[in-house]
Amino acid sequence: MYRTHTCGELRIQDVNKHVILCGWIQRSRDLGGMTFIDLRDRYGITQLVFNMETNAGLCREARKMGREFVIQAEGSVAERSNKNPKMPTGDIEIMVEKLVVLNESLTPPFTIETETDGGDELRMKYRYLDLRREPLRNNLWLRHRMAFEARHYFNARQFIEIETPVLIKSTPEGARDYVVPSRINPGQFYALPQSPQTFKQLLMVAGYDRYVQIVKCFRDEDLRADRQPEFTQIDCEMSFVGQDDILTMFEGMIKHLFKTIKGIELKDSFLRLSYEEAMEQYGNDKPDIRFEMKIAELTAIARGKGFGVVDSAPYTGGICVKGCSSYSRKQLDELTEFVKRPQIGAKGLLYVKYETDQSIKSSVDKFYATDDLKKWVDCFNAQPGDLILVMAGEKLPTLRALSELRLEMGNRLNIRSKEVFKPLWVIDFPLLEWDDEANRFFAMHHPFTSPKQEDISLLDADPGKVRANAYDCVINGVEVGGGSVRIHNENLQKKMFRVLGFSDEEAERQFGFLMHAFRYGAPPHGGIAFGFDRLVSLFAGEDSIRDVIAFPKNNAARDVMIDTPSEISDDQMKELSIRIERMKD
Ligand code: ASP
Repeated sequence: MYRTHTCGELRIQDVNKHVILCGWIQRSRDLGGMTFIDLRDRYGITQLVFNMETNAGLCREARKMGREFVIQAEGSVAERSNKNPKMPTGDIEIMVEKLVVLNESLTPPFTIETETDGGDELRMKYRYLDLRREPLRNNLWLRHRMAFEARHYFNARQFIEIETPVLIKSTPEGARDYVVPSRINPGQFYALPQSPQTFKQLLMVAGYDRYVQIVKCFRDEDLRADRQPEFTQIDCEMSFVGQDDILTMFEGMIKHLFKTIKGIELKDSFLRLSYEEAMEQYGNDKPDIRFEMKIAELTAIARGKGFGVVDSAPYTGGICVKGCSSYSRKQLDELTEFVKRPQIGAKGLLYVKYETDQSIKSSVDKFYATDDLKKWVDCFNAQPGDLILVMAGEKLPTLRALSELRLEMGNRLNIRSKEVFKPLWVIDFPLLEWDDEANRFFAMHHPFTSPKQEDISLLDADPGKVRANAYDCVINGVEVGGGSVRIHNENLQKKMFRVLGFSDEEAERQFGFLMHAFRYGAPPHGGIAFGFDRLVSLFAGEDSIRDVIAFPKNNAARDVMIDTPSEISDDQMKELSIRIERMKD
């Protein structure tokens, strides 16, 4: 037997047991006549003790072993005189009688402990070493349990997990595809799925009325903390349901995860905000509602007092920050710099301080009398001691800038606790989004999303006004899922492609398989996909999804451990009938 117990298992009740443990040497310390080794495996750490007086030979052997050696230690469990309450095994230690080195290790390039000295790239290169660290082990364990509980929830509700293909067809909508050349069909390519969207719809046509799949998806996009070239979705679809049924079912899954994984009972139904409300109140279609600080519009009351910036702006709005009227000049300048950053792009920031003595001070005293500013104050229902921050400009960019400022103030005031979770649904998204560059509409969600019944007549007259039966699930400012009720009628689907600028032939070529399927009894259906990596990172309190993925890619879409993407041999290229021509810049 290699081992009788794991390194996370033994407790005070096990004292005097004879045990064998296997693991990696995290660190060792020589203190006088004793040597202590922290032995680690994925379950925890147990302290091994070697005594120079009672067994000098073994102790000397132990002193020769370096970090990350894999060893087998046999001995008896003893109560520690110097207990460590921070460790689950901290009451005991193993008095080692026999030691076997199972494998040696080079000195690792960084310390494999909770706090490490290794930089990001180095840890990515030696990911198998990084994965030995407790925070990552915890994250992978959490990920496993969340996947397990999600499946448990769906299984209990007649969902069936069905795998869909990974080599599929490239389509022009959505993000950029990753493509795979076909050797057998020279000059032709598969695409890796951005999501199994059309397949899950075909499964509905096939009658599998509750589908789920925890599935890898691939999108060739610019990367950020919450994006990876390949990522995982909990992909779901249901038939014979309307929006309300879908929201209820998947709200249930989120609640189930919170309850079983975090012990948090989310009793209330999730708030449902329309896209329009989310934009007006938070400047964002994924609002963080852990704190209020809603945006209020001041356009009408701020105009006409001779202040050009406001008078010429289509929109003026602001936020009210509780208890911050004492903000100094320097702090306000910092905020102004913050909103002027190119990513945010505001021209400037106005402030109104509603002082604790009820006087009002502002950066626009020249244009506004106290009575005018009192109206601003009333707009926010501000209390003495509050600070109002205002911006003016084009409506959408100003709302977006206010949203960034609101989140920044939330950070500064420490009211975005990672321990608090506030989920909501954002519903009634616009069906289409105009793109100036392409000079056409794009589907805001995807082209299979159904318009609201009452808006269908606008599809010709004013497509930009049509609302969709589409929804996002948002938690703490993170979009964790999105979906829609689908079109299940061939003619409406054709019409949608026309609005998106496809000719009938093009639509037929790209999506004929789906529209043909609609001729054979397509049931009403709809669904959602959750970004599983995001959901796990939210539960883990991590800022980047990389920390919850075993083998992620870096920001240049590279796997630095296996060193890919990489060139392939000339023979492989020939077989694929591909020749690379370097393009001149
Ligand atoms: N396939 C969609 C996506 O990946 C989700 C859905 O509509 O179900 O965003």
